[in-house]
Amino acid sequence: MTQSIAFLGLGIMGQPMALNLVKAGYSVTVFNRTAEKTKALAQAGARVAANPAEAAREAEIIWTIVSDTAAMEEVVLGKGGIVEGIREGAVLIDSSTISPTVSRRFACHLAGKGAKMLDAPVTGSKHGAEKGELTFMIGGDRDVFERMIPVLTVQGKKHIYCGANGSGLAAKLAQNAIQATMVEVFCEGFVLATKAGVRPETMLEIIQSSMARANLTDFKAPFIFKGDFTPYFPLKLMHKDLELAMEAAYAQNVPMPTTAAVKETYAAAKAQGKGNLDYAAVVTFLEELAGVKVRAATDEKDLGG
Ligand code: NAP
Repeated sequence: MTQSIAFLGLGIMGQPMALNLVKAGYSVTVFNRTAEKTKALAQAGARVAANPAEAAREAEIIWTIVSDTAAMEEVVLGKGGIVEGIREGAVLIDSSTISPTVSRRFACHLAGKGAKMLDAPVTGSKHGAEKGELTFMIGGDRDVFERMIPVLTVQGKKHIYCGANGSGLAAKLAQNAIQATMVEVFCEGFVLATKAGVRPETMLEIIQSSMARANLTDFKAPFIFKGDFTPYFPLKLMHKDLELAMEAAYAQNVPMPTTAAVKETYAAAKAQGKGNLDYAAVVTFLEELAGVKVRAATDEKDLGG
């Protein structure tokens, strides 16, 4: 029999992920706080629920990907939330990047209903979601994870088991601390080089010929050079993840001096109103401080100091 899945949260990531499940032949019911965003899924054949409880009621699997810990709190424990509708034996797969501590608390609430939870945060961004090429970091019972492999495979080929509930999120926060720092320091270097009169394209050729080459910055560089900050991963969400990483660091008595400084750079860009742009827009904060723009040579006036 076709497995029934409730999919909650149809943002940048959730929209293509829910569509992948419909295309794979699952019986999908969607919910999104802003109802407008359910239209494309309804056209593709998904049912639309009025609230998370209604979506969860018939589902064997409930998949969530919402902004942050507060959003997940509302979706799971709020009025009309998942715990009101979830049935015994169901599994909640949460791909939101949220607090590992709070995620473990959700798992306890669900255990009280005879249901299981996996934290299953992702990396791969919007294009990874569209192509079904996400990488998952999984926390929860190993046997539950193994049962979920067929449905996880619809969204990506790599599912890395990290340990008990909360472990997937712990790994995700460490990964994003690394990515946020890579992009920020890449931008700092390019601002310095540009101000000194080195063209961004020349600097990129140097980086790509050195040990500093990285897939991440290879991907972001053309967008930065065009000043195109259409969000793949909104800057406000990267800032949220850095806050969560610092919370985890505090809880475990781990000093993260560079991440702490980088977090404040994203905080400054967010305070300037850039939260809804891609996180590569952190470059614009650095550019404004230095009085230079890291743009490709099509626009001569953008080059140099
Ligand atoms: P997004 O486009 O901003 O979508 C956020 C989703 O959360 C929307 O569906 C939004 O509903 C919903 N939401 C927010 N607050 C809510 C609330 N109080 N109650 C119910 N729903 C609520 O974000 P995204 O880029 O898809 O990211 C979603 C999650 O994935 C985040 O935790 C993010 O850190 C993580 N992530 C993102 C990426 C990426 O590259 N984008 C990569 C890896 C992980 P509305 O439509 O009503 O606003």
